[in-house]
Amino acid sequence: MIGTVLDAATELTIDLIQPFQLDVSNVRGRAVRLGRVLDEVLALHDYPRQVEQVVAEAAAGTVLLASLLKYDGVFTLQAKGDGAVSMLVVDVTTAGDVRAYARFDADRLPPADQPATFQSLFGEGYLAFTVDQGENTEGYQGIVALTGQTLTDCLAHYFEQSEQLLTAAKLAARRYPDGWRAGAVLIQHLPEEDEGRIPKTPADNEEDWRRVTILMNTVAEVELLDRTLDLNSLLYRLFHEEQVRVFPPHAIQRGCRCSAERVERALQSIPAGEIEELKVDGEIVVTCEFCSTRYTSEDGVTFDKR
Ligand SMILES: [Zn+2]
Repeated sequence: MIGTVLDAATELTIDLIQPFQLDVSNVRGRAVRLGRVLDEVLALHDYPRQVEQVVAEAAAGTVLLASLLKYDGVFTLQAKGDGAVSMLVVDVTTAGDVRAYARFDADRLPPADQPATFQSLFGEGYLAFTVDQGENTEGYQGIVALTGQTLTDCLAHYFEQSEQLLTAAKLAARRYPDGWRAGAVLIQHLPEEDEGRIPKTPADNEEDWRRVTILMNTVAEVELLDRTLDLNSLLYRLFHEEQVRVFPPHAIQRGCRCSAERVERALQSIPAGEIEELKVDGEIVVTCEFCSTRYTSEDGVTFDKR
């Protein structure tokens, strides 16, 4: 699980993961709501509205999937396409630090007043998920073609292909006058060996899953995003017949892991000729794509944050 566990006294209704379980139907789940963290991540860039839209959606999706991890590490979602947006990266650490960046061709973006979907912006491409658990342990979780209109559609394909357990999710993001907001909910059938599982026949399992996915799919976009509807109330509204039980929520915040030392280490693996190309007025300038921090050096050894 990612993020800091919040005690009951903390009145946090945004930027959190709310784990839950549906005891009647042997299902566990996560609800996510992001607000200020999206504004903070996006404020580091100056992306057009449509690009901000997909970054906000991807951030909610990444937090949702990362929250299923049982071990510590960095969970990364990477989307690549041949459309106006060619690349999008979001990663989340066990501590709940999220960061993101996108690369795009401004000339190819659709007009800002047109609703942007994952498909319309990325075109043909793929989504890749990786988990980095420290040195030399980067592992692919999965990769899936960008199929379907929305990130919700793409995730459904990913779950079909990659997850061993029945999994379903729904997410939404929208910019309000006071800032960006994203909301998401995910459900997953408990594994057979799970201690808390009520023994059931395969037919009953199938019926449970059918019933719970129907309930989840009744959630409206506005409910996922409505700040006045806290996640516990939303979960109760959706799943009260399934005996929904919630666990302490976890906090999510903006955070980047870049540092002068990391930049130095990265430069050590670059051939001298290419280092020359990084120079601006005799100084090497490296800008972190995630947080836009500029690192510069005259001699290529000592870096200062500017
Ligand atoms: Zn950074």
